[in-house]
Amino acid sequence: MNITTSKELFERAQDYIPGGVNSPVRAFKAVGGDPIFFAKAEGAYMYDEDGNSYIDLINSWGPMILGHANKKIEEAIFKAVIGSPSFGAPSRMEVELAELISEMVPSIEKVRMVNSGTEATMSAIRLARGFTKRDKVIKFEGCYHGHGDSFLIAAGSGAATMGTPNSPGVTEGTAKDTLLAPFNDLEKVKELVAANNGQIAAIIIEPVAGNMGCVLPEAGFIEGLRALCDEEDIILIFDEVMTGFRLGKGGAQEVFGVKPDLTTLGKIIGAGMPVGAYGGRKDIMDFVSPQGPVYQAGTLSGNPVAMAAGYAQLSYLNDHPEVYEQIEKTTKKILAGYQKALKKHKLNYTMNQIGSMISLFFTDKKVIDFETAKTCDTKLFGEYFRFNLENGVYLPPAQFESWFISYSIGEEEVKKIIQVFEDFLKQRQG
Ligand SMILES: *Cc1c(COP(=O)(O)O)cnc(C)c1O
Repeated sequence: MNITTSKELFERAQDYIPGGVNSPVRAFKAVGGDPIFFAKAEGAYMYDEDGNSYIDLINSWGPMILGHANKKIEEAIFKAVIGSPSFGAPSRMEVELAELISEMVPSIEKVRMVNSGTEATMSAIRLARGFTKRDKVIKFEGCYHGHGDSFLIAAGSGAATMGTPNSPGVTEGTAKDTLLAPFNDLEKVKELVAANNGQIAAIIIEPVAGNMGCVLPEAGFIEGLRALCDEEDIILIFDEVMTGFRLGKGGAQEVFGVKPDLTTLGKIIGAGMPVGAYGGRKDIMDFVSPQGPVYQAGTLSGNPVAMAAGYAQLSYLNDHPEVYEQIEKTTKKILAGYQKALKKHKLNYTMNQIGSMISLFFTDKKVIDFETAKTCDTKLFGEYFRFNLENGVYLPPAQFESWFISYSIGEEEVKKIIQVFEDFLKQRQG
């Protein structure tokens, strides 16, 4: 593999950008080696600065669910750019996208646009606190809700990978208002609520965790949280930045049939442009400024180019339910191919999958929370990652991440993905 240009760019980047990257997990710290710099992407493939191509199993961490360089989305973006990239004033697409989101996501009656998932979760928590006049929130170990101060406590994703789940710079005052429970442990949540009677504003959760690898809720867990929140007047927030428009057009809440009070969105909603949103019950959302007292604003929020991209993608997903059927089928084929290959080899593993989210964990434990996710052989994951990279398959560069299968991945790509895995197992044994 020729890596001259990526190598050069990374050297230059390190002089002017902290760690050479604008988001930590991109630095490949968890898997070893230097990051690859990309020049373009199309369909299922990404092309680097060095002339290599890769089947993309991350898809920009989810947003490119239809594959890269989708023509409909690109056309919508071009058209919006020509009309001026920003007004700083209301425009038509904001209304149309808000209507579409309310139609697609079961619990959303009103929605506010922001520019990232982080902004969405920070704003949702402020709103929950303002609405309930309570300070404390419960989050789950290994769940990632962006890099807002309240959430960098036992955080997943890059924070887990970098070994900084509790970041310096978060004040003790902020940290003490975030209470922690293990994922899938309803009893522990009940204990926390009882011990902090009348003080919990919100429980925030990734209904399917994707930031400690893909971890599914056990039967009754999500329903149990809903019932508890109802009893105690606690706001239940589903952070569907990852699962929204991915597990189905209505996200995890549609799949599980449980309605949260507030939902945070990101990733797929912007089709690759920087967009996030939070929405939910009308009475709560009407607490947001200028209708209500909880302040939240954004110079570029509802940006016309970003709204056009999001609208093009979401309306396509809304009109084409077969997308979800196909990406799940593709994911299950990869899962079956991996399982078949693993039968011939002695290797501890667990695979978790739902819809088009999937993770291979190198452990003999069932992975149900952060504790069990951490039992994985991360060194082996690094070897597995680098072997795939050298053979043209681009996986998430850390054990504690989910893969995201796109609509562009077809039979040919599935065959290659499985073949590379078989080769990896063989060379490891040999
Ligand atoms: C990615 C992610 C975020 C953060 O979104 P950004 O756009 O990176 O700020 C928040 N919550 C979840 C569940 C995520 O997967």
